[in-house]
Amino acid sequence: MSSRTQAEVIVIGAGPSGLTAALYLARYRRDVLVIHDGNSRALRIPKTHNAPGFPEGITGPDLIERMTRHAAEFGARIEEDEVTGLERAGQGFLLTASSERQWESRAVILASGIFLNQVDLPHDLHEQAIEWGVLRYCPVCDGYEHSDARIGIIGCDSDGAAEALFLRQYSEDITLMPLSHPELSAEQQAEMEEAGIVVEMGALTALEPREDRMDVRLEGRDASLSFDVIYPALGSRPRAELAAGLGIALKEEGCVPAGSEKDSGIPGFFAAGDVVEGLDQISVAMGHGALAATKAHNWLREQDRHTLQTQG
Ligand SMILES: Cc1cc2nc3c(=O)[nH]c(=O)nc-3n(C[C@H](O)[C@H](O)[C@H](O)COP(=O)(O)OP(=O)(O)OC[C@H]3O[C@@H](n4cnc5c(N)ncnc54)[C@H](O)[C@@H]3O)c2cc1C
Repeated sequence: MSSRTQAEVIVIGAGPSGLTAALYLARYRRDVLVIHDGNSRALRIPKTHNAPGFPEGITGPDLIERMTRHAAEFGARIEEDEVTGLERAGQGFLLTASSERQWESRAVILASGIFLNQVDLPHDLHEQAIEWGVLRYCPVCDGYEHSDARIGIIGCDSDGAAEALFLRQYSEDITLMPLSHPELSAEQQAEMEEAGIVVEMGALTALEPREDRMDVRLEGRDASLSFDVIYPALGSRPRAELAAGLGIALKEEGCVPAGSEKDSGIPGFFAAGDVVEGLDQISVAMGHGALAATKAHNWLREQDRHTLQTQG
């Protein structure tokens, strides 16, 4: 056969979902290779307070370092590269990277996450604002920490309105601002009013992060508005192009449908974590990873004629 590297299962992604899958597969005594391009969203978390088992919180890089060590401890191989091609090859898969390396595997777990649609700030300042805690993208993760804070939401459409209502649970001081122009229906506008949420009409012209606040400039206002934290509600882009390339029909928002391993018609393909439709959270990603690994393991056993399955 060719000189391509082989593995029984290749996991694309070394975030919470991919590393959980790798740990489970390694402990099922499978030959598992993780390939990642260093872009786990978890690496950007200054400190998470809702990862179960860490009551004092844990930084994203610390969590990923522990999970990497844990999977490697049981034999998972972990390599850095960007997978640019994923195709069927015989009964298995052929993966190609931007470095032109190639790998073959019997099964694949896509755990590639999403890219956030971000506000327009220079990269370093953007990351600094996250570090200072004045820019946040995940109300589910961080809403609790902003109880009674002055909260601004960017994105005056149905997503922004939904986020504003969600955050209203934590604070009475909520302002919804458009990126370019407001797109609320009369009904949504009334709902905002009823909930005591201020709706600004002027387009966003500048964001000025400070250590303790975010100053926001809006068209038609001379003075800037100050918030303790800003939540952009601008959506995301799932990193699902490799699944689409295999012929998997993506959801409207671009993510891989849940249960795609059954419906995709592509035996041996599994997906886990944020790239799959559902709640984008560490604990969910870990659960997906465990499930995908167990399904992949059982699928391989079935191929090898071991028909009695562990449900897990
Ligand atoms: C600032 C911030 C704060 C957050 N806070 C919290 C929190 O407090 N609590 C919480 O539960 N969640 C939080 N999240 C969300 C959390 O980070 C994600 O839900 C979680 O990381 C999803 O895990 P995942 O494994 O699905 O994807 P990711 O962690 O994003 O990992 C995706 C992996 O796929 C790899 N990859 C993708 N495409 C390719 C390719 N083509 N080739 C090679 N590798 C590829 C990437 O390199 C990466 O290793 C936060 C996110 C951000 C950005």
